[in-house]
Amino acid sequence: MSTIATQDMIALIGAGPSGLAGARALQKAGVPFQGFEAWNDVGGLWNIENPRSTVYESAHLISSKTTTEFTEFPMPAGTSDYPGHAELLQYFRAYAAHFGLTKHFRFGTRVLQVEPVSDTPDTLWRVTVQSAGGTPETAEYKGVVIANGTLAEPNMPTFEGHFDGELLHTSAYKSPRQFTGKRVLIVGAGNSGCDIAVDAVHYAKSIDMSVRRGYYFVPKYVFGIPADTVGGKLRLPPWLKQKIDSTILKWFTGDPVRFGFPQPAYKMYESHPVVNSLILYHLGHGDARIRADIARIDGHTVHFKDGTQGEYDMVLAATGYQLHYPFIADQLLNWQGMAPQLYLNIFAPRFSRLAVLGMVEASGLGWQGRYEQAELVARYFKALQDGTAAAQALTQAKAGPPPDLSGSYHYLKLARMAYYVNKDVYRDAVRKAAQALA
Ligand SMILES: Cc1cc2nc3c(=O)[nH]c(=O)nc-3n(C[C@H](O)[C@H](O)[C@H](O)COP(=O)(O)OP(=O)(O)OC[C@H]3O[C@@H](n4cnc5c(N)ncnc54)[C@H](O)[C@@H]3O)c2cc1C
Repeated sequence: MSTIATQDMIALIGAGPSGLAGARALQKAGVPFQGFEAWNDVGGLWNIENPRSTVYESAHLISSKTTTEFTEFPMPAGTSDYPGHAELLQYFRAYAAHFGLTKHFRFGTRVLQVEPVSDTPDTLWRVTVQSAGGTPETAEYKGVVIANGTLAEPNMPTFEGHFDGELLHTSAYKSPRQFTGKRVLIVGAGNSGCDIAVDAVHYAKSIDMSVRRGYYFVPKYVFGIPADTVGGKLRLPPWLKQKIDSTILKWFTGDPVRFGFPQPAYKMYESHPVVNSLILYHLGHGDARIRADIARIDGHTVHFKDGTQGEYDMVLAATGYQLHYPFIADQLLNWQGMAPQLYLNIFAPRFSRLAVLGMVEASGLGWQGRYEQAELVARYFKALQDGTAAAQALTQAKAGPPPDLSGSYHYLKLARMAYYVNKDVYRDAVRKAAQALA
């Protein structure tokens, strides 16, 4: 059996949904690769045993199965509309087994460092990895595909004063039993904050949520079917979509202001919507209460900016995550401001074979959207290998001005929105680029 030299292979980092998509697409394109996964199994954050996982016992999909699954590998018949993390882990294990992807990964092996051998676009890449208990090993690869996830590194706020109770980030939240008998303040009402508040009402002594801004709440079901499967094919201009969808929301979830939330100072889809109507249900039952932004903390007393205060045993920061690529220098990924500036959120502009998968936020992109990224990368690498004109065209496009992927929505200037795109515009652009390489 002949072995392929690492210099002819792509190093692929991570075996979560994006890394598996990367493996499948490289395999299909016939591009040799070596995968590395720090944990001992596939599934990424959907594997609750993975120390980098940020799911909790009650975590389920917030996008429905049909808009989320890989097109060439539908979830088994009988899967619920919004499966939980354990069912999803089975799905990723089955995906990896079905396509024979597992053998391409070294599990329990963390990538420590990635650096170019030279400054030329076509450079080889020096990759240093470490297996549990082993000494670091370095080898040169033809290229690198990074799929290490975007929702693992906590974005922890700092508060004025000192809290004498328990201060946690959602990344450390696993079970509602952590709340038993406690007066809990959840900071932030995004998807995780609301999910966790709904968990907490059955265990905590009291639940308050401190918010800075208003939100749009989308129910999981409208007319008895998953909300993200309604009207999906219809392409409308932003102003019309915002008008129609916010009217539909008013019918189904009502006005969040009635439940204590501030009025959003932005239009629908200018920030990630919260897919949760149970939080409004619990607020309506007095199980939870909305508070203002935090001014300062003094012992167990939290002072809010509206002049009110409350006593708490636990403060849980549901304040999201930061992009985190600790193994590669920022300038190689073209970091500017709050995120790397990558062509189509994928390609580092300076290099031929440095790509990131999964560094994209959009409402309803699903794993198929991530697979399409992987397909583009794999086809590009293959086309580079074959020296085609289409490869040259993409290389030129990569060096030029970035396309507008916003779909004319004015996204909020938040860290998480720094790599936010409009799903339809984005998928069209990625598919078109991939088709040009087919
Ligand atoms: C509560 C919750 C609900 C969500 N709901 C949805 C949803 O409904 N729909 C949806 O589309 N998305 C959802 N997401 C987003 C989720 O991030 C994606 O579904 C998906 O997990 C992203 O896959 P990924 O492979 O990019 O990253 P991850 O799943 O984070 O996988 C990254 C992998 O890389 C590995 N790794 C990291 N660093 C290294 C290293 N240095 N060396 C080797 N390996 C490394 C990690 O161990 C991990 O296995 C949700 C996220 C959370 C937390």
